[in-house]
Amino acid sequence: MPDPYSHEYNEQHYRSLFTYNPDPVFTLNPAGEFVQINQAGCDLIEAEEGEILGKHYEMLVVEEDRERTRRHFEAALAGNHQRYEIRIRNMQGEILQLDILNIPIIVNGQVTGVHGQARDRTRERRTEARLRILERSVEASSSGVTIADAGVPGFPLIYVNPAFERMTGYRADDMIGSNCSILQGPDTSQAAIASIRSGLAAMREVHTALLNYRKDGSSFWNDLYIAPVRNGADEVTHFIGIQTDISDRVRQEEVLTYQASHDSLTGLPNRIYLESHLQGICRHAQARKLAPHALFIDLDGFKPINDSLGHAFGDEILSQTARRIEAALPADSTLVRFGGDEFVALVSAPEERQTINRIAELILEQFSRPFLNEDVEITLSAAIGIATGNGALDNSMLLVQQSDMAMYEAKKLGGNTWQWFNQTLDRRVQHEVALRQQLQQALATNQFELFYQPLFNNELAIIGVEALIRWNHPDRGYISPAEYIPLAERTGQILPISEWVMQEAFARAAELADMGVPAISINLSPLQFHRHNLVERLARLNVHYQLAPGQLCVEITENVFLNDPKDVIRQLREIRDLGIEVAIDDFGTGFSSLSYMRDMPVNKIKIDRTFVNGITSNTRDAAITRGTLSMARELEMSVVAEGVETEEQFRLLQQYGCTGYQGFWYSRALPLADLRTFSGALVTTAPENQCWHQSQKNRRALADCPVFSVQATGFIPG
Ligand code: C2E
Ligand code: CA
Ligand code: CA
Repeated sequence: MPDPYSHEYNEQHYRSLFTYNPDPVFTLNPAGEFVQINQAGCDLIEAEEGEILGKHYEMLVVEEDRERTRRHFEAALAGNHQRYEIRIRNMQGEILQLDILNIPIIVNGQVTGVHGQARDRTRERRTEARLRILERSVEASSSGVTIADAGVPGFPLIYVNPAFERMTGYRADDMIGSNCSILQGPDTSQAAIASIRSGLAAMREVHTALLNYRKDGSSFWNDLYIAPVRNGADEVTHFIGIQTDISDRVRQEEVLTYQASHDSLTGLPNRIYLESHLQGICRHAQARKLAPHALFIDLDGFKPINDSLGHAFGDEILSQTARRIEAALPADSTLVRFGGDEFVALVSAPEERQTINRIAELILEQFSRPFLNEDVEITLSAAIGIATGNGALDNSMLLVQQSDMAMYEAKKLGGNTWQWFNQTLDRRVQHEVALRQQLQQALATNQFELFYQPLFNNELAIIGVEALIRWNHPDRGYISPAEYIPLAERTGQILPISEWVMQEAFARAAELADMGVPAISINLSPLQFHRHNLVERLARLNVHYQLAPGQLCVEITENVFLNDPKDVIRQLREIRDLGIEVAIDDFGTGFSSLSYMRDMPVNKIKIDRTFVNGITSNTRDAAITRGTLSMARELEMSVVAEGVETEEQFRLLQQYGCTGYQGFWYSRALPLADLRTFSGALVTTAPENQCWHQSQKNRRALADCPVFSVQATGFIPG
């Protein structure tokens, strides 16, 4: 054990303080050169002791701090200890922030040097600088920022920034120590409050938008974000809240939603509104023990008025209609403009029908007053379909769909009336929906075929065939066109179907001519005149298949003239110019205006089979048939009597001067192969009077054909 009073002991004692000091320690001579430096000092400067000793301290100090450092160094040399901060650049070029303590070394009353001790403050200074920036940003932020103490019940605020003060009107003094629930008020959503509470309790982040109230009582929409702040031990010590006033955005959204969900012409809510609110309306009705009813109101004959009197007047009628229907509805009803001239009224009423019937009556009465446009008076009516919600809320739009279906029924009755939706209607619609899909499938997979029914003359020779479509359904076998043609006309599927028929008929014309069938008739749908480039299509097929004039005949019904007759006539003229014949089908069953017989480019009449059917028993049917025949003669049109089922009918028609016939008595519609057999038999059996017997034989032969059985009522799948 060395002597504690010995020089050597003392020497080691103080050297330890120097050598093992964890902080950099050094001595400088009065010239400012390093005389000593410990290991911590070398580590800080990242240099070997040898590289440092003898060098002037200024080589480390950054330029800007040198002057100040010199003053401190001189003051230390003058005997006063100094504390100051400097920035140095170590050997790696890294800037370090140091706290320096300089103590003069005094030996025998003389300053012989300066002792230095440094403390590295670089990290602390960086953190402090960051905090200062953060603090300034928080102060300057345009969002409200609050900090709450998570360790105290009720999470009192310890800080609010100026933006928060501006946004809420509360001063920091008002807020510190209390919390933000002061901002809640009567219309603040309870759900939003609950989500904040549960988030805070679970120390989770919360993001919500809620209506808040300022100190002066006015409200604003607050987009609030709350995040927990954790310490090093991962404990939540604070909550930080960021609030943004989004009132402008919310107002804008409200305006946009309003515009998107309302019709600008009538100011009524529109279909989008209906779809998003219907469920709520139904639920509200049920909560009051009432049933939700939908009244689907469609104006009768609005389109032609709109087309002929101008859209300005049309608009006027629609907005007046909206006001009139509103006047007929109970106060708490909702009236929606569903589209075009369709309105939907939602009325909550007791289940029994009288109340709603009365309302429907009131709505129709609204139309007894004419609509006025300058000197023109227009009287309109409406068709109304009514459906009742059955309590199933998951598909509330079904209610509207059902009222729509019922409206169609009211239309079928001629309009100006109402109809209730019922289950039969539902089943029919279901059936149609299925059929419609199957038709689509049929088109895609080629399930259609063309059959040909011969047309014959007084000599019982074939003068042509009518192409009749057959659908060979994969499950149901052959289905009558009467079942799906009207549907296809409503859905528009008739267009691709007709396209197929035209293509097929043209393609078979040459083959038919070869077997002695000089002409082929096809049925056209009214839709083809209104939506299709019909003439162009016929012209192209005509050129491609090089048909002779008169080889093709198109059959149209009188109702093609219901819409835009001028245009239909123009198209028919062009069709005639192509060398294609035009026949009026089912003559006598349509709207039968004799004037069109004068102007129409039509050269053939097909007398409907209902007249032919009654010809032997009903004198009126006989009279109409005779009249039609003589008119056709006068107009130099050819005639075909349809639905000839007995020899008696044939003979009588012959007496009346008929020249063309079609019907089961002669032949049903046949597949092409059977038609070949049939016509072949006819051709090979001359003389003339044998042909009838031969065709009778064919009839028997064909009765074995599995496809059809002969039925007086028309086409029945066999
Ligand atoms: P339609 O144009 O009047 O065709 C004549 C209908 O009368 C055919 O019925 C035919 O089988 C039937 N018929 C012929 N002779 C007799 C008879 O002696 N007695 C009875 N009771 N009926 C007879 P089908 O084939 O069922 O066609 C029904 C309707 O479907 C056609 O009436 C036509 O309007 C439409 N249709 C058929 N094929 C097409 C087509 O390719 N395109 C379009 N657009 N409609 C078609
Ligand atoms: Ca026809
Ligand atoms: Ca017909």
